Amino acid sequence: MRRPSLHGTSTSIRGWSNSNRSEIDLRSEFDTLIYGDATHIPHGHLIVIRNMRRDSDGYPTKCSCFEASNTTEPDPDCSYCLGEGYLWDENWGMAYSMHLNADSGLARKYIHMAPGLERTDYVVFFIRYDSDIKYEDKVVEVRLDEEGELVLPYIREAIYKPHTIKRMRSDYGRVEYIAVFCREDDAWKSDNPQ
Ligand SMILES: [Zn+2]
Repeated sequence: MRRPSLHGTSTSIRGWSNSNRSEIDLRSEFDTLIYGDATHIPHGHLIVIRNMRRDSDGYPTKCSCFEASNTTEPDPDCSYCLGEGYLWDENWGMAYSMHLNADSGLARKYIHMAPGLERTDYVVFFIRYDSDIKYEDKVVEVRLDEEGELVLPYIREAIYKPHTIKRMRSDYGRVEYIAVFCREDDAWKSDNPQ
């Protein structure tokens, strides 16, 4: 019997809440969604996770441009840290992402907000349960062509800071996948190669 699926058919989402729920392995459903399999096309796209480099005590490693500076600012043109002031390592990952627009969907109820409150758009990246991501890390969007292929040499188009990292748990409390919410207005964006 075919298992309920997160994708492909209109009956899919209902599988989450019906009595067969315990039969669904959300980790493997997530992998099928992102990476595809023999019968499903992959819905994920390439991202880069920029992991802060840490010393053995867990502290972020300052870049030499930051260490050497007489001010409290790193060198914005530093070719090692690209102006972050700390060293990092970038790793490829796959994600399914979407925008949470403040003017639509669930957020619509905030349209008639009191003056002074701000509306914030978010982008959320869904990534594999075992992805290495922490709050000081970044999600980097690289330029992909219309077919989803990486454009070389690669261009970092947007760098997002995680605002909320939500480890989505289900079976026995285990992590099934990770949702990384990032504020649009807090992102670095550029059309220029970096
Ligand atoms: Zn630097």
